[in-house]
Amino acid sequence: SVAQGPQLQEGSPTALEQHTPAATSMAQYLFPPAVPAALRVVGETALFPVRRVYCVGRNYRAHSREMIQRQAAQLKITDDKVDAPPFFFQKPAYGAVTDTKTVPYPPKTQRLEHELEMVVALGDDACVFGCALGVDLTRRDLQDRAKAQRRPWDAAKAFDASAPCGALARGLPPKETRLELSVNGAVRQSCVLADMIYGVPEILEHLSREVELRPGDVIFTGTPEGVGPLAPGDAVACRAFGVDGGEALPACEFVVGEPRL
Ligand code: MN
Repeated sequence: SVAQGPQLQEGSPTALEQHTPAATSMAQYLFPPAVPAALRVVGETALFPVRRVYCVGRNYRAHSREMIQRQAAQLKITDDKVDAPPFFFQKPAYGAVTDTKTVPYPPKTQRLEHELEMVVALGDDACVFGCALGVDLTRRDLQDRAKAQRRPWDAAKAFDASAPCGALARGLPPKETRLELSVNGAVRQSCVLADMIYGVPEILEHLSREVELRPGDVIFTGTPEGVGPLAPGDAVACRAFGVDGGEALPACEFVVGEPRL
């Protein structure tokens, strides 16, 4: 039998909740609902529950150019533009992992790539709660194949532990903040937040025209140039520095594990 769980909180209903049976206790479910993925908040004990994970497709010009060149060379796709309006895709909420020291090398790929990103988390008023460093892990070979076949990107972007994140810090870091991703100590990606084509308010404005943003929604804000492959055993470290050189966001660090299969 299902153990008595905590009473569900009442809040303003989401679009979904208006069209789904309202359970008043955990015991009403056939089996316990999945525990939500959660991010740590620096200096606090309460956890940030993750509802959805969205990602911005292109938000740095140099990365747009590197992807457009890759598409033209490998896929003969030549009608893409650097300065297109932002577009969005999703990762599963349970892809957002924060305490994982080792991220398993995912199955079905020969080309796992890192994408360093600033992650924005929406709080209980659906406004910006805070930010973290994250890596939009990508099975690039599956993405190339999906693009060539004009199929969805899901297999490339949405897999277990596909969104490792550091702890959240409250607020938005200043635009001069520099982000850096290194692999085995060598810097692979580096940018300042001011390089983003669309800033956080514009991203939220665009995305909120597509879906109703809610507390717990998390948005990866795009990656700068320098995306590249990861191999089992690689040590990945993401850091954020203020103009004074101090830590602007908590680091996000993990080691790529062996393939499970
Ligand atoms: Mn990305």
